[in-house]
Amino acid sequence: MSSSTLDLTVLHIAAARLGEELTPAAEQAFRRYAQLLLEWNQRINLTGLNEWSEIQRRFLVESLGLLPWVDQACVQSPACRVIDVGTGAGIPGIPLKILRPNLSLTLLDATAKKVRFLELVVRELALLATTPIHERAETLAHDPTHRGQYDVVTARALAHLAVALELTIPFLRVDGLALFPKGPEIEPELRESQRALEILGGEIEAVEPMPLADLVGTIGTIVVVRAVRPAPPQYPRRPGLPAKRPLR
Ligand code: SAH
Repeated sequence: MSSSTLDLTVLHIAAARLGEELTPAAEQAFRRYAQLLLEWNQRINLTGLNEWSEIQRRFLVESLGLLPWVDQACVQSPACRVIDVGTGAGIPGIPLKILRPNLSLTLLDATAKKVRFLELVVRELALLATTPIHERAETLAHDPTHRGQYDVVTARALAHLAVALELTIPFLRVDGLALFPKGPEIEPELRESQRALEILGGEIEAVEPMPLADLVGTIGTIVVVRAVRPAPPQYPRRPGLPAKRPLR
């Protein structure tokens, strides 16, 4: 499919509703990204979504819904640092970067072929200050150039919230925000994450309906967690353990 045949109407409506301007450069970047995603997904399994309309709604529009929180966390940081943990094919990191080119973005994933795809996306879209890293969060979060360094961490479809918290909170500076796009039924997961929050030094800042649900096509929730003190140095535990024995 050529990128000019991709219909961006839904993305335009979403942007307008959020008061965002979709510049020609952003539109071009979204088209190229979508084209690469569709092309590469036929060769290597990047994501379960194969339909352009689905990608546009579930990936691009849903990512846009996080922008107000990114902006809030970045208000004090002109060179705002964002890490997308378990980014897969770049969701939500790449759409956020397209709309906020000033972000300094780390794209972290444990699967090598996905990181190779992201390296291609960074080149093809000429994204500045965007670094794909092939590593596990359990390991990178102990690297002093990443631990406690980020204003924002995002994680979509990574794990149960209790697990995702252990894999993300240690990346945040105190007062930084973790953003988790989740499904509609969030209450049990929140209850099961109380202990993880206490241990890791996070506090729930907001639990709110995902904006633009009618455009996304499903009802979702954004869980926002604020880091209120540095995470204890032993977290995250060694690779595999957070998922195997969640802090619940
Ligand atoms: N965020 C993307 C991908 C979700 S799938 C989206 O919303 O579409 C989850 C991704 O997390 C996979 O690509 C997997 O490789 C990665 N992942 C799982 N555990 C991880 C870990 N401990 N560290 C880094 N990446 C991890």
